[in-house]
Amino acid sequence: TTTTKASAQPLENADVLIASVETFIFDCDGVIWKGDKLIDGVPETLDMLRSKGKRLVFVTNNSTKSRKQYGKKFETLGLSVSEEEIFASSFAAAAYLKSINFPKDKKVYVIGEDGILKELELAGFQYLGGPKFGQQEDGEKKIELKPGFLMEHDKDVGAVVVGFDRYFNYYKVQYGTLCIRENPGCLFIATNRDAVTHLTDAQEWAGGGSMVGAICGSTQREPHVVGKPSTFMMDYLAVKFGILKSQICMVGDRLDTDILFGQNGGCKTLLVLSGVTTLSMLQSPNNSIQPDFYTNKISDFLASKAA
Ligand code: PLP
Ligand code: CA
Repeated sequence: TTTTKASAQPLENADVLIASVETFIFDCDGVIWKGDKLIDGVPETLDMLRSKGKRLVFVTNNSTKSRKQYGKKFETLGLSVSEEEIFASSFAAAAYLKSINFPKDKKVYVIGEDGILKELELAGFQYLGGPKFGQQEDGEKKIELKPGFLMEHDKDVGAVVVGFDRYFNYYKVQYGTLCIRENPGCLFIATNRDAVTHLTDAQEWAGGGSMVGAICGSTQREPHVVGKPSTFMMDYLAVKFGILKSQICMVGDRLDTDILFGQNGGCKTLLVLSGVTTLSMLQSPNNSIQPDFYTNKISDFLASKAA
C-alpha cells in the first residue's frame, strides 16, 4: 500500500515530549505493572510528571476489575492514583450504556467477571450473568441436554456485554446468543477484543477477544467495542477533562490496542518495550502501526535530564 507513516523514533529527548503535552494516558499492564509486579521506576516517574503539572490518566482493557478495585491495586503497589483517574473497559461498558441512555427498565446480560457487574451496579443498571452464571449452587453445570430441553431467557435483556471471563461456559454462550438472536434490537457490546493476555509471564493466554469471538460466531453479529482501540474512551476523557487530543500523549506496550487507540484519537503516541512488544516486532515489515516514539520503559523519562 502507499499509506506510509514515518517509522517510530527512539525517544531521545523526553523533556521535549513532556513539555509538548498536558496529559499522559498510561496503559496499565506492561507499562505500570506486569501482572501484580510494579515496573521499575514507575513511582518516581509519575511523581516527576505530577510535579510538572501533567494530568495523568490510566486506561486498561482488563475488564475483570472495577475502577474502585483498580484503585486498591494502585494503592497496594504504593502508587497514589485516585479512582477518577482510572478508566477500565469495565467502566467503559457502563459509561457507554449511560451515554446512549440505555433504559433503566431493561437489563444487561453480562458474560464477564466482577468488574463489569460492579460498574453496572454503580451506574444503576439492572443486570444478570457474571462469573457464576450457568452453574448450580454446588458448582455443577446447569445445562442438561435432555430431549425437549429448552433454554429460557429474560426477554427484558436489551444489551449483552462481553468481557474477559475465566468461568466462560457453553450455557453463557447459548444464553447470550438467544438474547441477541431473538431480539433484533439487542445491543452487543464488547469491553475489548485482545487476542491474548498475560495471566502468567510464562505464556500467552487466550484474551477477552476469545469470549467475544464466540458470540460473534454464533450470532453473526459484530460487537460495539468500548475499550482500546475504539475511540469511545478517548472521546469520553477529552470531554470529561476538557482536553484537546493533540495535548495528549498515549503511552502503551501494545501496537494494536494502545498505539492505535492514541492514533485513532489524534494523540501523540509512545510505545514502551516493557510489555508485550519487542523492538523487532515494532520494526518488522509485517507491522504497519508506528508510534511517534518508542523507549524501553517510562522511567526513561527520568534519565533524559542528564543528556
Ligand atoms: N484483559 C485481561 C484479562 C488482562 O489480563 C490484561 C492484562 O493483564 C488485559 C486485558 C490488558 O490490559 P492493559 O490494557 O492494561 O494492558
Ligand atoms: Ca498493555
